[in-house]
Amino acid sequence: MQQDSLFLTSDEADKKRFLESVSKAAEAISKSYTNTRAFSGLKPEEVKDMVSGVELLPKEGIGFDKTMAKVEEMVLPHMLKVSSTDYMAHLHSPPLMESLISELILASGNQSMDSWDQAPVATEIEVDVINQLCKLYGMPDGSDGIFTSGGTQSNLMGITLARDWFCNESLKHDVKKFGLPKEYNKIRIYTSEISHFSVEKSAHLLGLGYNSVVKVPVTANQKMDVDKLGKIIADDIDNGLIPMAVIGTVGTTDYGSIDDLNSIADLCTKFGLWLHADAAYGSGLILSNTASNRLSGIERCDSITVDFHKMFLLPISCGAFFLKDSKNFSHLTLHADYLNREEDEEEGYTNLVGKSMQTTRRFDALKVWMIFQSLGKDKLSDTIDKTLGNAQYFYNKVNSDPNFQVVTVPEISSVVFRYFESDASDEKLDTLNKRIRRDLIHTDGIVIGQTIFDGKVFLKLTLLNPLIESENLDKLINVIKEKSNYNK
Ligand SMILES: *Cc1c(COP(=O)(O)O)cnc(C)c1O
Repeated sequence: MQQDSLFLTSDEADKKRFLESVSKAAEAISKSYTNTRAFSGLKPEEVKDMVSGVELLPKEGIGFDKTMAKVEEMVLPHMLKVSSTDYMAHLHSPPLMESLISELILASGNQSMDSWDQAPVATEIEVDVINQLCKLYGMPDGSDGIFTSGGTQSNLMGITLARDWFCNESLKHDVKKFGLPKEYNKIRIYTSEISHFSVEKSAHLLGLGYNSVVKVPVTANQKMDVDKLGKIIADDIDNGLIPMAVIGTVGTTDYGSIDDLNSIADLCTKFGLWLHADAAYGSGLILSNTASNRLSGIERCDSITVDFHKMFLLPISCGAFFLKDSKNFSHLTLHADYLNREEDEEEGYTNLVGKSMQTTRRFDALKVWMIFQSLGKDKLSDTIDKTLGNAQYFYNKVNSDPNFQVVTVPEISSVVFRYFESDASDEKLDTLNKRIRRDLIHTDGIVIGQTIFDGKVFLKLTLLNPLIESENLDKLINVIKEKSNYNK
């Protein structure tokens, strides 16, 4: 193969090389799906040994074919197969077939979303996708949004804008110009005790510290206890603290439980607080013809985190951040002569960098644009509903089996449970459940999750894959039971 094509250009030789390389790679990728296992089973040391010894930067390159051969030998076989029905561990989805093509298109074009002159059609598509998504989530006129790298960045944006809005409105202090106000260490952010750790990370990054995050207890069904939230806020005010924002979780990472946004929104209105919805997980429910009402109240939130690389089954990375009042994006905007001149906006050139924490940014909006049109609402709804049904099925099975304990009824597609024997101590059960999970990975190539509930080790299924059938779940239950015997 010709080696001197550096780029895909209008040159016929370059085009030929592009087609050949892509088809070679596509063939190697599909060949690597040799069985239904989620993982080859290698231990960490085995993977390390295999990987070490590759010279990263030889003086002379070995060429595409030999490099691909290495990829075929070392990388592809040991990648986790996320489309496997034996992969049920995390909020980590199989990417829909057609979205792989979107990735190829957006990588080939390499548009950068910071300014119109780096991404002309891509900018207008992102703007349009965002506008239509705002409507889909029922947000009012004047709302806006931006694509992000995922939930962590979207949460950081929500809490940043909450801080800047709150300090401007309530403390008459401009954080953008002057940094934190002097009473910064009295500011409080409320979120449930099982919310995502990016809330605390954000508080740290924003100079407010972990202490600013108040963990509100959850009810038995793993939702924020809103009565307690109201009492805690009132007590904090009495104690001279400064409540700023509430972060509601729409689909907790472990349980998929959904906080009652309407009741939380009432409290936020009463106390003058920003309400951010972390819907990184649950945002996908919007596609469901049967369950989208579980998102009720999301349209009342000041800002929303949406992840497309979870329930929407799109490749990493793909997320978005929505804002009820687009004016609040001004807290992030800074004009640079070399990038986003003010005159551009006046002349109709949109530079999206003004709404983003990133500068150079991927054209991830293309993935949503293509998949929504190609599959359509009903088909996407079916994929979501299948996963909700699977979670319900598995819950019913383990809930009625004395050899299992389960935490709560699933609201989305996650079930937290553990293998259980009434005469075994919690300590013994912890060890047993941990061993079952490790053994599943390395012996059976089945990957499931693990977490802690009530101080005890629990196992977790996150059922994002609509290919999973009840038989896969029945098999898993049997395998777990068999393993509990070997391990005694
Ligand atoms: C996954 C998740 C996040 C983080 O999103 P990333 O896309 O992984 O950055 C935040 N919040 C919740 C509830 C999540 O489940």
